[in-house]
Amino acid sequence: MSKTVRTTCPYCAVQCNFDLHLEDGLAVRITPTRECPVAGGTVCKKGLASLSDLRHPERLTSPLLRIGGVLTPVSWDVALAAFADKVRPILDADPSRLGVMGSGALTNEKTYLLGKLARVGFGTPSIDYNGRFCMSSAATAMNRSFGLDRGLGFPLADIARSDLIVLFGANIAETLPPVMQFLKAAKDRGANIVNIDPRATPGLAQTQLAPYPGTDHLIAGLMLNLLNHWGRIRASAPADGAAEVLESVAHLTLEGVAKVCGVQEAELLKLARLYAQAHRPLILSGRGPEQQQNGTDTVSTLINLAFLAGHFGKPGGGYGTLTGQGNGQGGREHGQKSDQLPGYRSIRDPADRAFMADFWGVPESSLPRAGRSAQELFLACGTEIQAMIVIGSNPAISAPGAALVRERLAALDFLVVIDFLPSETALMADLVLPGSMWAEEEGTTTNLEGRVQRRRKAMTAPGAAREDWRILCDLAHAVGRGERFAYPDFAALQTEFFAATAGGKADYSGLSAERLDEQTFQWPVPHADHSGTPHPYFAPYQTATGRAKLIAAPMTVPTRALLTLTTGRVAGQYQSGTQSRRNPGLKGTPDVQLHPDTAREYGLSQGQPVRLQGPHGEAVLPASITPKIRPGVAFVAFHWPGSANELTSADTLDPHSRMPAYKSGVVSAVPVPSA
Ligand code: SF4
Repeated sequence: MSKTVRTTCPYCAVQCNFDLHLEDGLAVRITPTRECPVAGGTVCKKGLASLSDLRHPERLTSPLLRIGGVLTPVSWDVALAAFADKVRPILDADPSRLGVMGSGALTNEKTYLLGKLARVGFGTPSIDYNGRFCMSSAATAMNRSFGLDRGLGFPLADIARSDLIVLFGANIAETLPPVMQFLKAAKDRGANIVNIDPRATPGLAQTQLAPYPGTDHLIAGLMLNLLNHWGRIRASAPADGAAEVLESVAHLTLEGVAKVCGVQEAELLKLARLYAQAHRPLILSGRGPEQQQNGTDTVSTLINLAFLAGHFGKPGGGYGTLTGQGNGQGGREHGQKSDQLPGYRSIRDPADRAFMADFWGVPESSLPRAGRSAQELFLACGTEIQAMIVIGSNPAISAPGAALVRERLAALDFLVVIDFLPSETALMADLVLPGSMWAEEEGTTTNLEGRVQRRRKAMTAPGAAREDWRILCDLAHAVGRGERFAYPDFAALQTEFFAATAGGKADYSGLSAERLDEQTFQWPVPHADHSGTPHPYFAPYQTATGRAKLIAAPMTVPTRALLTLTTGRVAGQYQSGTQSRRNPGLKGTPDVQLHPDTAREYGLSQGQPVRLQGPHGEAVLPASITPKIRPGVAFVAFHWPGSANELTSADTLDPHSRMPAYKSGVVSAVPVPSA
């Protein structure tokens, strides 16, 4: 029997729509949806390849319990009894010693349920998620200036209206390919595109600046200072802090910034002039400026520039951050962050706490306070954290300082992993619970422009694998705390989730599965007649005063290393590679990219193995020599075991967002003689 189900791609934050075609229950083909509101009928190679993941021969189809050191298939009853045996005593003694690690790959409903499970079911404050690693600095900066964090405060189509697009550390062509159509439309209308990245990543840019990693704030600060000298400051809306911001960049000179960033003065001047002359310049940032120790302050500087030049909130202009994970936007809104409650409520705000306590029918005093951030949770494993549940991520590969993180995970009394493939983290676990993939579950996801879309179930999970939301409820019941987790079906959970967001900043309460069958909505959607909010960043802002709060960020000069590591992604792979490394349709092998001058300096030839050493580990990778990276910088992608995160620092965090600084770091390189 043939069936076609319209759903969304799970592999990046664009969330392209496609039709999944099934024959006799088996997924056989994917075709892009022409009416897709985000990608307009395109799907990239990762989206097309996702088909073969669904029935991959390594799919987990039974719970696995470590018995005698070996992960052994067991029934669900045995698995849940083992969970209860290990976890109940921890909850009785000190619930904060149970850690919960979520993911930006989870649907909104699972995000909500995971946060509720941690706080209401288990009573632990020790919950955070892997999005802390990829979006928290931009989110913190947006929140502190506007009281709101929606990655793009405009529809993607607005990009086509820009007349200057400045990309700070954002590799759109390889990581979010359909977004390129909007840059192309802008360029076709005469827009300039400037790419600021130590690597010449592919794209449409007419101008490429290749500064040293970690210097973006100085470039943006200099631009702001030049605009001020040229009399081009005109705040976008009422704001506090403008004078302090301008004062903080007043010392930046073309000569000084060019020297620190390693670019030509003329290049910086040209960029500043282009920006000053543009009518609708748009700054987009990716992880380059964000995953730094001063990531929040760097994003604040980008915001200050867009805001004080008068472009913030202007269609086609302003600032936006390009969220990357499959549900990177929705995943950061509904309560799996250590400091957050559903609807983007704050766990520190008395009114927000009172609302959620009342909604869940528990005393406000029983709701835990804010807990540790993701990396702090990992580093506490084996000491303050005794047991941990990991769902939808693979920190053994993807966490900064991965060798140390693996050491800490191994020190736990009990590690539980919910996943659909045997990731490196799952293989370390004491209990592995087989979950569902994207085509096997209902739900909603929210893309990088805050657009809520429906994910539809097309097939059942294989073998004894269960839908993730059922597994989370099973865990609550297993420890005798299932009273508030007795959903008769998924629809009941989804209805509760939408209602829980009512009155929050990310308000989805006007949504229903039926409405989402007809169209998509950009949040907030506060009632059932509301058609969504394409542009949420208008004054009065959601700050205490209603005015924007501009932050004067320190213009610190980073210490320059002999060899600076920069990390990132490549087109054919996804995150820690659990799916994409197994997918025959996707390619790529780990290497270290070096400029010919750097290779010469270290005596390296093409393909020669290099031993790279970082603060917590080392990696041996073949040299890939390319002029597309600046001298003195080594690029390593993070999708493979033994790659980038063996070299990154485990314990260097942005003090504002608690995001690890693992976009760049210091490495040493030694050639390994070929055998
Ligand atoms: Fe999937 Fe992203 Fe590719 Fe679209 S661009 S098909 S969402 S991986």
